[in-house]
Amino acid sequence: MPKRQHVVIIGGGITGLTAAFYLQQAKEKGLPITYTLIEASSRLGGKIKTIHRDGFVIERGPDSYLGRKKSMTRLIEQAGLADKLVNNETGQAYVMSGGTLHRIPEGAVMGVPTKVGPFIKTKLFSPAGKARAALDLVLPRREEADTDISVGHFFRRRLGDQVVENLIEPLLSGIYAGDIDRLSLQSTFPQFQDVEKKSRSLILGMKQNIPKPSDRPGMYGKKKGQFLTLSSGLESLVERIEERLESESIWKNKKVSGVVREETGRYRIDLEDGTNTHADAVILASPYSVTKQLLPEHLRVDGFHATPSTSVATVAMAFPASALKKDINGTGFVISRKEPTTITACTWTHRKWPHTTPEGMVLLRCYVGRANNQDIVFESDETILKTVLKDLNTIMDIADEPQFYYVSRWVQSMPQYEVNHKQQWERLQANLSEHFPGVYAAGASYEGVGLPDCVASAEKAVMHIVQNLR
Ligand code: FAD
Repeated sequence: MPKRQHVVIIGGGITGLTAAFYLQQAKEKGLPITYTLIEASSRLGGKIKTIHRDGFVIERGPDSYLGRKKSMTRLIEQAGLADKLVNNETGQAYVMSGGTLHRIPEGAVMGVPTKVGPFIKTKLFSPAGKARAALDLVLPRREEADTDISVGHFFRRRLGDQVVENLIEPLLSGIYAGDIDRLSLQSTFPQFQDVEKKSRSLILGMKQNIPKPSDRPGMYGKKKGQFLTLSSGLESLVERIEERLESESIWKNKKVSGVVREETGRYRIDLEDGTNTHADAVILASPYSVTKQLLPEHLRVDGFHATPSTSVATVAMAFPASALKKDINGTGFVISRKEPTTITACTWTHRKWPHTTPEGMVLLRCYVGRANNQDIVFESDETILKTVLKDLNTIMDIADEPQFYYVSRWVQSMPQYEVNHKQQWERLQANLSEHFPGVYAAGASYEGVGLPDCVASAEKAVMHIVQNLR
């Protein structure tokens, strides 16, 4: 019979919660495991926060996840919330460029054109820009196809600057809020590197890989989209998991200040209040900016996450439907970096997620804060609202102030996976495995920022711990 192992999880965001949930399940199955989840703040969930007000379901942080990455759906099913899963309504999405909203051309996969007709018709690119993009059809593969380069460098070479700046950059930076000329291709969109390796041309290669929409028809009889969320709000998953955990295993309002390996091989977890606790294994589920401070200096990796995570804010605004003088039939828009607006994107949440908004009302959610300019995030709520409304008014013609609004600031929240991120992450894991065996780093700083990526990283850490029981 293996010896009982105690696991300490640092950080109670979705990553730490997932780890605690699966460790609890392992314990219930009779495995000799106990755990403590330590969270610095007074609540669990990290970036997941939902507000319920007047029939609205308002997400302050993430609002959904990519359904084809199964780890999140698995967690939701295990937590007993599968009946609350809803897909997004599909609809036309737009990109703003040259002061105009353009339809995202049909067939564009993450901005890579795969259908000729819509690409030729769109006014998003000039004839020269289109001709340059078509060069992708004949350009050879990159010679050093296995080395990492920036997302910007890769796409500029294949499709030209115009397609990158007017379409690809606004779409991709919505996910990473980063500078695409610094973001790592291998760690953010490795599928494009694979497509080039396999098919040479991105346009031809992506044509064969277009994701299929779900077969379930949506509210308006259209195909359902590829994103999922919970009709009860994403925070209902946090609450459900918390209910399933043993309350004495959750420590809130406790900030970890260091992790020390003792001579016995066990770990001492120091808390900021001067107390400590011990563990046989540790899951570091705090962002790397925190995690690196908890580890001894010789385990940190030079240059890893050298650029601080980007700060962003979301602004959710509720209006009566009549306030929208020019309601556009679609799900929202992203904005090219060259535009003079402060907002970077806007989701027409009432259209994309009808369950979030009562009849006769409209819910808009805008983003502010980008890699090269985050000052707006630190302005007052009133200033942010005023700036957002001014931008929206020029784009959509909104007459009134919102009935209510919420500004949610997420300071240094979007990790920047820069070129060679993967190699640096591998070095961190090697350092941990050599000097801190049984300690695992997981969460948004490493193998994907999306909720399913965070969940998968927690699953992986728990699996290692369970497999190493001796
Ligand atoms: P966090 O949620 O940051 O949790 C880390 C936890 O660690 C926090 O609770 C923190 O208090 C705690 N902590 C920190 N330091 C210590 C310490 N010293 N001791 C103890 N505890 C500590 N992803 C999607 O898939 N879909 C989306 O629609 C989406 N939208 C997003 C919108 C916004 C505005 C943001 C900011 C992110 C979005 N993301 C989205 C990304 C996703 O939300 C995050 O990557 C994910 O929630 C991160 O989870 P995590 O557990 O790794 O970290």
